[in-house]
Amino acid sequence: MVIEPKVRGFICTTAHPVGCRENVKNQVRYVQEKGAIAGGKKVLVLGASTGYGLASRICSAFGCGAATVGVAFEKPASGNRTASAGWYNTAAFEEEAVKAGLYAKTIIGDAFSQEIKEKTIALIRADLGQVDTVIYSIAAPRRTAPDGVTYSSVLKPIGETYSDKNIDLKNRAVTNVSVAPATQQEIADTVKVMGGEDWKLWMEALQDAGVLADGAVTVAYSYIGPKVTYPLYRAGTIGMAKEDLEATAKEITTLLQPLGGHAYVSVNKALVTQSSAAIPVVPLYITMLFQLMKEKGLHEDCIAQIYRMYQDKLYQDVPVVDEEGRLRVDDWELREDIQTAIAQEWAQVNNDNIAQYADFDGYWKDFYNLFGFAVDGVDYSADVSADVKIPSVE
Ligand code: NAD
Repeated sequence: MVIEPKVRGFICTTAHPVGCRENVKNQVRYVQEKGAIAGGKKVLVLGASTGYGLASRICSAFGCGAATVGVAFEKPASGNRTASAGWYNTAAFEEEAVKAGLYAKTIIGDAFSQEIKEKTIALIRADLGQVDTVIYSIAAPRRTAPDGVTYSSVLKPIGETYSDKNIDLKNRAVTNVSVAPATQQEIADTVKVMGGEDWKLWMEALQDAGVLADGAVTVAYSYIGPKVTYPLYRAGTIGMAKEDLEATAKEITTLLQPLGGHAYVSVNKALVTQSSAAIPVVPLYITMLFQLMKEKGLHEDCIAQIYRMYQDKLYQDVPVVDEEGRLRVDDWELREDIQTAIAQEWAQVNNDNIAQYADFDGYWKDFYNLFGFAVDGVDYSADVSADVKIPSVE
């Protein structure tokens, strides 16, 4: 079939297998050109199919030469529906890994469940024995916890209604948004979904099963961002979840003491991913940030961020952390010159001058790219099969 993008709000309901494959190949090429990283050799990536998790899997495999097990929640094609982008990415990743002589297997399913934890442990035990690195990169709107309750996360401020500028990406216009504060229940539920509980459950399960190597490290991803998004992000419900995640890193480090292991949080840069596109206000900030960072030659995408995190921060003799023990690759985003400029532009931006400040084209290209569209060199008029197999998935 000829596959076209079908954009509904902040998601695209179709994905292009050839475009997704090209995206993966481009990321593999980026890592190969940058050179080898002395890092983990047996790596488990939770949330391995898109965004920061996929970039982590690619850096581990093609930078460190690692065997990788990936866990992701993705859908194959069925009827006239294409597979999800993460499905195509994973198929392409495994093909590239196998070509390069690297072990790569994927488990498709709900990482929050006990069943998938057990399945993953059984696979590690059978094929790799142990893993030395665990990357936790799950971003999900809801989670069914071990108590059987399904919790949903919300993106809301805490305490008072938040009103600010927002962006209408489709019409390239500045609008206003007003978000009512979360209830106590919504705050607690968001922490349940995006906080550290499931990360800790994974690490306990892996350790109890004896499949963590001595000195194992684990990394989960966080975000802080600029003052302009604080009320909605860092001081909002999702920020509470991120604080919980960061506190959990300390608990996991204590847990891993018998192995001499360590848990880190890496604070990453704001980028266009399927998750960040859904957050109000953040896309306006992202378009302005991209414009500024590109002008200054500081812009990075997921693969560049994770490569730098591995090479310059995590896999050093002594990992490079801030005073809270966090790896920081949001350092360029939060540079004073960038943030001063953002604050000034934020005060001035309006419907008449938005084109001058916002990198709309860059945003849209990144957005379409997430789903395998608008990728250079792909013939989108060609007839392609939507039905693609992930080699290791039955
Ligand atoms: P993403 O949407 O691109 O990726 C999410 C991944 O989680 C996918 O692989 C998906 O398959 C997987 N997943 C979702 N639900 C799952 C489930 N139930 N079981 C198994 N897998 C599941 O998101 P992302 O933006 O790469 O986010 C990853 C992490 O990075 C998050 O913790 C996010 O907060 C953090 N982060 C993101 C940004 C950003 O700007 N995008 C910035 C800093 C930190």
